[in-house]
Amino acid sequence: ARKRDGKNGAQVYDAAILDKTRERAEIESDISAGIAGKWFEAHFQPIVDLTTGIPIGFEALMRMRHPSKGLLSPSRIIEAAEETGTIAEIGRLILEEAAANLARLSGLPDMADTYVAVNFSPLQFEPGLPARLAGVLGRHAIRPSRLIIEITEAVLMHDNPEIRAVLNEIQNLGCRIALDDFGTGYSSLSYISRFAVDIVKIDQSFIHSLTDASTDVGGKSKMLVEGIRAISHQMNCEVVAEGVETEQQRSLLLEMGIDYAQGYYFSRPREIKELMSELSAGASGVASLAG
Ligand code: C2E
Ligand code: MG
Ligand code: MG
Ligand code: MG
Repeated sequence: ARKRDGKNGAQVYDAAILDKTRERAEIESDISAGIAGKWFEAHFQPIVDLTTGIPIGFEALMRMRHPSKGLLSPSRIIEAAEETGTIAEIGRLILEEAAANLARLSGLPDMADTYVAVNFSPLQFEPGLPARLAGVLGRHAIRPSRLIIEITEAVLMHDNPEIRAVLNEIQNLGCRIALDDFGTGYSSLSYISRFAVDIVKIDQSFIHSLTDASTDVGGKSKMLVEGIRAISHQMNCEVVAEGVETEQQRSLLLEMGIDYAQGYYFSRPREIKELMSELSAGASGVASLAG
């Protein structure tokens, strides 16, 4: 907020609201322009097997390539798009790009069984979704098990029977459901018991505090991560650790029996061209993800 009068709290507050409103209007107009001008793209971040360091899949992460502002990250765009409903259109574009690029990646050595994971917002779980997914998979000749739908607790929160039916249909197609940012919501544990989740992605905040040496935070985080792993495995869910940034975190997670990991330590999200050339650098390129 621009501070016009330090003593007048109300004025400063108004200015803050005005700034927020302007910023939001700008994001919304960027979204419309972006849909019309095809500014949306998916970048891909490898998810690796912790024991081998080899990628087993890739998460598609939305970016907006703004002609004057450059490459914009998704958080605020997604938030605005969810509130205005444009998330449906953006979601379709990202899904299409994810599928097309998985088909391209499949041609590389050892990549034929990798998956692509796509983030979905609550509003995208409309009754027509399973049929649309089947259509996209068919057009790109992708086995359904190679598509993972990432959801957050927001999708499961109201235990909406329609959403539950759509999730069941998606799993009946053969696609898998991953619960993203696990542990940050209010009743995480109940969600993995009440819904047939296939994969649990442990939120990066837990992974970062694993190596927090200042107090006993690290020790407590370790207990939490171990607990989440044990419960997830007992419920037949695979476990992915998000946000792995250091060698110390990688080796701790491996010791704890975590299956898979994702994070800057292995690779940042990359444009498809860059990712393909890295992976096709062959054994050396793949081995580099092992650290
Ligand atoms: P997410 O699904 O939890 O994705 C992981 C986020 O963590 C990504 O942020 C990724 O770039 C970042 N990340 C990966 N490794 C590390 C690491 O080692 N350290 C740190 N600090 N961060 C790491 P990004 O790309 O900014 O995306 C933010 C969020 O936006 C995503 O979180 C997801 O909730 C949402 N999002 C992205 N693309 C889409 C989309 O196509 N549709 C929907 N509905 N949401 C999306
Ligand atoms: Mg995700
Ligand atoms: Mg996440
Ligand atoms: Mg997140």
